[in-house]
Amino acid sequence: MNKVEHIGIAVNNLEAAGSLYEKLLNTTIYKTEEIATEGVKTAFLQTGPNKIELLEALSADSPIAKFITQKGEGIHHIAFEVGDIVAEMARLKSEGFVLLSDEPKPGADNKLVCFVHPKSAGGVLVELVQERNI
Ligand code: ZN
Repeated sequence: MNKVEHIGIAVNNLEAAGSLYEKLLNTTIYKTEEIATEGVKTAFLQTGPNKIELLEALSADSPIAKFITQKGEGIHHIAFEVGDIVAEMARLKSEGFVLLSDEPKPGADNKLVCFVHPKSAGGVLVELVQERNI
């Protein structure tokens, strides 16, 4: 894995959280995007080399809605950038990690993504992200 690509934070209200994080980081949201297949609306902020992804549920059965019901708002996942997501998924599988999908899926910010189950990763939801080659 190359680096932490972003940190995902689950929020109740993207607008309210967006302006909070804009003040906190002294920057502005550079992108918002709906990922209908994941049931989320996202907003991205950049501070120095680091990216923060805010996630709001689009519906009550979205994984983000479930997360907030159980744990409240807060850090939801850590995303790592990988060069070859298919190879990395195979490596993690062979090491005994549980992946949440068998294939990479289209994610926010024009990436291919795959999540690692937090139960197999020390309680942390890990996201692998690979830049899409267009
Ligand atoms: Zn993410």
